[in-house]
Amino acid sequence: MKSTDVVVLGAGIVGVSAALHLQARGRDVALIDRAGAAGQETSFGNAGLIERSSLIPYLFPRDPAKLIKYALNLLPEAHYHFSALPMVGPWLLRYWRESAPERVQRSIDARRPLIENSLSEHEALIQQAGAGELLRRNGWIKLFRSDETLAAGCAEAERLRAYGLHIDSLDSAGVAALEPDFAPIAGGVHYRDTASIHDPAALSKAYADLFVSRGGQFLTGDARSLTQEADGRWRVVAADGPIVAGAAVVALGPWSDLVYGPLGDRIPLGWKRGYHMHYAAKDGARLNHTILDADVGYLLAPMRRGVRLTSGAEFARRDAPPTPTQIEICEPTARRLFPLGERLDPQPWRGARPCLPDMLPIVGPAPNHPGLWFDFGHAHHGLTLGPVTGRLLAEMMTGETPFIDPTPYRADRF
Ligand SMILES: Cc1cc2nc3c(=O)[nH]c(=O)nc-3n(C[C@H](O)[C@H](O)[C@H](O)COP(=O)(O)OP(=O)(O)OC[C@H]3O[C@@H](n4cnc5c(N)ncnc54)[C@H](O)[C@@H]3O)c2cc1C
Repeated sequence: MKSTDVVVLGAGIVGVSAALHLQARGRDVALIDRAGAAGQETSFGNAGLIERSSLIPYLFPRDPAKLIKYALNLLPEAHYHFSALPMVGPWLLRYWRESAPERVQRSIDARRPLIENSLSEHEALIQQAGAGELLRRNGWIKLFRSDETLAAGCAEAERLRAYGLHIDSLDSAGVAALEPDFAPIAGGVHYRDTASIHDPAALSKAYADLFVSRGGQFLTGDARSLTQEADGRWRVVAADGPIVAGAAVVALGPWSDLVYGPLGDRIPLGWKRGYHMHYAAKDGARLNHTILDADVGYLLAPMRRGVRLTSGAEFARRDAPPTPTQIEICEPTARRLFPLGERLDPQPWRGARPCLPDMLPIVGPAPNHPGLWFDFGHAHHGLTLGPVTGRLLAEMMTGETPFIDPTPYRADRF
């Protein structure tokens, strides 16, 4: 039987980054994914932002008027399946509690060390992987359609400037100067510290190729076969036979419960599904930045394949058939804002953001299983946080002093 130091289960951006950081610390690592390739699930279709400026988490809204509209499925930024409510409802209640105004500052403080190191950690790996061509450093822009929402957007920007971020408030002319092909709009906020990747799946692949080029094993296999041997080692069955390791890392994104659940761990992992569709740009129009249409709730990102429209959150069973209502609703609005041409995908892509109720990931040891480690639940920021959490996990696993305090991300905090 093959043996190695560590098996990392899941080759999304989170697992691949963890594998690279463990390897860099001298560990023999096997990376195992059912897809046989890296970055084929949630990490495939996201909006590509390395959100260096997103210190404020995505909170459950508390405005009663908005809540009524959400309940009636009237707002495109969120959508839910009525049939999934018995399962999703209790999780939403926990999310609502964690979003209480008095907890927001604590949440900002907890995520700040991760966010502040997110871009530099990517840059180091991007440089080693020779993937610099994928990175753009021109920020992202939140657009607002009314003076009222623009004022609220500018107030949030002001709060974030206190953290040393570089943010420009834009009037209508300011938006037009940066994005000349957009229809006139009240204004926007340009977060200049954020970077973006114009093919997120290619970035996961570049990191996985780097891992393999340095002697790492990439195996196809089902993580649900994980068992613990009598001697405490972990065993997984890969396509070419079983492999045992002294330690195992669960980095299965929204599917992580399929491994920790049967082992008896109870963790409130939920998910926010999301969709994308690519479009051509009409008449030579150019999209220069990633743009959030903040009052409507969708995003336009300039990708290698075309303009990628990504949706807000959908609350449904993780693997329920796709219902890309949000793409259908947002597309006509987006067409009035920017000259989108024909659709470039046969059908919308679907993914699921793996979320804990406090919108922080779990990074650290499994509470009840020596040798088992967790790295999942990166929510809206998995692309952003993959490398920085990979480093933190690898430092904890190898006995180094962690470069940031891991306490806020521990698995037993719920
Ligand atoms: C529409 C949308 C837009 C987003 N935009 C952004 C953004 O701009 N910036 C940002 O930072 N984040 C963004 N996100 C969030 C981000 O994409 C996720 O947080 C991130 O991809 C999660 O990565 P992961 O590696 O944990 O999970 P995944 O990428 O889903 O990887 C999990 C892996 O586990 C494997 N797997 C599952 N089950 C098994 C099994 N039984 N056996 C073996 N392998 C298995 C899968 O094949 C997969 O490769 C967005 C998400 C969505 C949906």
